[in-house]
Amino acid sequence: MISVFGSANMDLVAYVGQAPARGETVTGHRFRTIPGGKGANQAIAAARAGAQVAFLGAVGDDGFGAELRTALTEAGVDVRGLRQMPGSTGIAHIVVDDDGGNSIIVVPGANGTVTGPSGEDMAAIARSDALLLQLELPMEGVVAAAQAAQVSRVPVYLTPAPARPLPPELLGAVTTIVPNEHEAAAITGVSGPENALEALLQQVQEAVITLGSDGALYGARSGERLRVPAAPVKAVDTTAAGDTFVGALAVARAEGRGMEEALRFASTAAALSVQREGASTSMPTRHEIENALN
Ligand code: ATP
Repeated sequence: MISVFGSANMDLVAYVGQAPARGETVTGHRFRTIPGGKGANQAIAAARAGAQVAFLGAVGDDGFGAELRTALTEAGVDVRGLRQMPGSTGIAHIVVDDDGGNSIIVVPGANGTVTGPSGEDMAAIARSDALLLQLELPMEGVVAAAQAAQVSRVPVYLTPAPARPLPPELLGAVTTIVPNEHEAAAITGVSGPENALEALLQQVQEAVITLGSDGALYGARSGERLRVPAAPVKAVDTTAAGDTFVGALAVARAEGRGMEEALRFASTAAALSVQREGASTSMPTRHEIENALN
């Protein structure tokens, strides 16, 4: 079983010719609401990749919270650890213009109340084969969840997004950090993925830097280094490629696969997801990943 202690947001996406300036009103041409948040995305990715998944987090007592609960449930995720708090569900208000540029406002809402794992969350984490974390919850909550996993010797995967300074007590409890190239540079202050990898390994046991269409780079303190190419596919929408990658990676590792094979599984899952629009809706099933691998 895989636990995800993380964020659930409703993405509110308005498509417009040009984003409005201050004081201006513009008419857009399309609007969509999409269940998201890095936590919910990773939970759905891992469930579709074939694992039993428990999502630990919070939504508000509004309609978006109910929709997120349904989306997670329909993906087969156990939502007994999804609390309902008074107030609004987390949202990401996204404006996409005709040039493909975007501006985003994130209002954490209920995610901001998740300042630590509950007693039930701790029990779920202790029973898990892996814990997946991101940085869209209050840092104290992320640290407490990582430490709960560490006590029970449960591997912890951290997606350090949005990038921000990482306290040593968090790094000390993380098994595998999985930043993209920009996050790796922001965290380490070092440019170039090879150099950033070495800098990360000063702080954590294991790191995977995802490099978009250039694949991924893996390193461990033991000295092992691997490079996995991305499948040559036509990308339609890369939203949540990183979340699909880490969800699938954790599933493969939890099943006991070696790192090289697990990275290939993750990269195949992520390559399938970029060929379809959307976040959770674009994530491949176990069957699709295995077909693409063969
Ligand atoms: P996002 O923020 O959109 O979730 P990310 O920036 O965290 O993504 P990336 O490094 O862009 O993560 O992508 C993660 C993985 O997805 C890559 O390591 C690769 O395996 C796969 N991937 C991304 N883009 C492509 C692409 N154009 N073609 C094939 N695979 C891709």
